[in-house]
Amino acid sequence: MPASSEAGESVDPQVARQRLNRLVADIDEAQQTLTAEADESSMPIARLSQHPADYGTDLSDQEREAAMQRAARTERHEVLTALARIDEGSYGRCVVCDAEIPDARLEARPEAIRCLEHQREYETARD
Ligand SMILES: [Zn+2]
Repeated sequence: MPASSEAGESVDPQVARQRLNRLVADIDEAQQTLTAEADESSMPIARLSQHPADYGTDLSDQEREAAMQRAARTERHEVLTALARIDEGSYGRCVVCDAEIPDARLEARPEAIRCLEHQREYETARD
């Protein structure tokens, strides 16, 4: 396969590393916010008795928060995996089949650790 794609812009692992480090920081910050909110909403029954009609809403808020926490944990794990793969020199390859992940995909999602096919498979298997 000829390696001459357009401007030949490939993802620089050092640039990717910076973006990934930043992503981890963002995720950590978001998780702290979520955790703080969760603490607040698990506070005493006072909140319930003030707004009895909101009870159901609170529950689905908690479910939503839990889902966001799960997503953040998964993403954090992938970002850390991508960082480790920069260290190993295997960044930009699918963890499943070792195929090269297209640069455009890495540009959009520097934490991508699977080719499109295996990412789709992974996301389908998770549900
Ligand atoms: Zn793959």
